[in-house]
Amino acid sequence: MIGDWKPVIGLEIHAQLNTESKMFSNDSTAFGQGDNANISPVSLGLPGALPVVNKKAIENSIKTGLALNCKIRGTSVFARKNYFYPDLPKGYQISQFDKPLCEEGYVEFHINDQVKRVGITRAHMEEDAGKSTHHGDYSLINLNRAGVPLLEIVSEPEIETPAEAAEYARTVRQILRFLDVCDGNLEEGSLRCDCNVSVMKKDATEFGTKVEIKNINSFRFVEKAIDYEIKRQIEVIESGGEIMQETRLFDSTKNKTYSMRKKEQAHDYRYFPDPDLLPVQVSDEWVSEIKSTLPELPRDMAKRFQQDYGLPEYDASVLTQEKSLAQYFEQAAKESSNAKAASNWVMVELQRELNDKKIDIENSPISASRLAQLIQLIDKKVISGKIAKKVFAFMLEDDKNPEDIVKEKNLVQITDESALEKMVDEIIASNPGQVEQYKAGKTKLFGFFVGQAMKASKGQGNPEIINKLLKSKLG
Ligand code: ADP
Ligand code: MG
Repeated sequence: MIGDWKPVIGLEIHAQLNTESKMFSNDSTAFGQGDNANISPVSLGLPGALPVVNKKAIENSIKTGLALNCKIRGTSVFARKNYFYPDLPKGYQISQFDKPLCEEGYVEFHINDQVKRVGITRAHMEEDAGKSTHHGDYSLINLNRAGVPLLEIVSEPEIETPAEAAEYARTVRQILRFLDVCDGNLEEGSLRCDCNVSVMKKDATEFGTKVEIKNINSFRFVEKAIDYEIKRQIEVIESGGEIMQETRLFDSTKNKTYSMRKKEQAHDYRYFPDPDLLPVQVSDEWVSEIKSTLPELPRDMAKRFQQDYGLPEYDASVLTQEKSLAQYFEQAAKESSNAKAASNWVMVELQRELNDKKIDIENSPISASRLAQLIQLIDKKVISGKIAKKVFAFMLEDDKNPEDIVKEKNLVQITDESALEKMVDEIIASNPGQVEQYKAGKTKLFGFFVGQAMKASKGQGNPEIINKLLKSKLG
């Protein structure tokens, strides 16, 4: 709510399905091939070329529909969406219109400590268009992308803030990646997000006129673009103007949206069922079969991590952002028998390293087993937590197991009480001022003594023994 204004937001997410061949032909979908390398008469829209449906694309769409809690239609229909554009050689895009494959679902996610549910109106299949690039006085068209299968996931206008919109989009991406049906790569355009935004007075009964912001390529920009758009619309209306139904684009350097085309120029698509394609018949058996192969989904996995490993909700949600990260954590947790330690190491030390060096968890220089071994060395008190960080740093450099590193570098924890007592005595003797203050009641100084003792032991003193010795000696 901004003053007495309420934003209304709905998202249309286009997900490129990662099938090997295109939606209606056996052309490859491989990214980064030479210009117009992945084409055939079907992709080129040559007269007489006939489309044939890719079963895998339908299967992946059903999978996604089920994961988004949708109903799957027994009979869905491909329709022609007619418009002219140079990168659309047929003069129409094959899409679905009044009979989409998936409808009436929902997605849930956490935001501000609450569960937010956003309805999914529909998820329909369509083919992608090609790509034009403009070079001064001429343009080039690459049709490698023409005909690549897309699933368009349309939300209900139930999103209420820019942050919710971004979180909704992140959740959809996370589900697509868990299902392994779309790589979710926003930069390469495998996932594209159109944001519909309007504002209404909080007691109004009808929605305001919406504006569509197209092709935003990061979730941060989703948030920024919508935020800007809400403020712009309120300002226009409050200064006596009117919102025009239009398509806008987001300029991420200026943090502003600007008009691309107004409604007057909007298309009349003249949808009709594609006469070259039969309706898609999906049997209940097939749907049940696909349902039985669905992997564990992120929210279920996060709940299981909380229950089985006693993780806080925060840890569980961070660790289930990516399936590979969750699998890494789970292996480390099982093998170390210390889930919370595994969670901390993965979320803090490991993630920081991987982020810094831009390495995927799959290629982590430290395997989950070795991380588990490191945690066990701490739990068995062979090394302290502090030394473990040193060992961790060596493990990043060297493909060796932590036990060997501890031996080689002589990092075993000092648990010999008499050796530690000698150090503690020396520290007390050489800091008479602090001892006096401590005894006079400045108990905060205890940390200072612990620090000194750890330093004297080169970080290898057992902290519990040091604590115990200091307590008894300082009184
Ligand atoms: P269109 O026919 O213009 O494509 P749709 O009704 O299909 O519009 O809706 C497209 C998207 O816009 C959906 O995600 C929907 O939730 C959202 N939407 C619809 N009406 C509004 C509105 N008044 N304000 C914001 N979003 C809206
Ligand atoms: Mg639409």
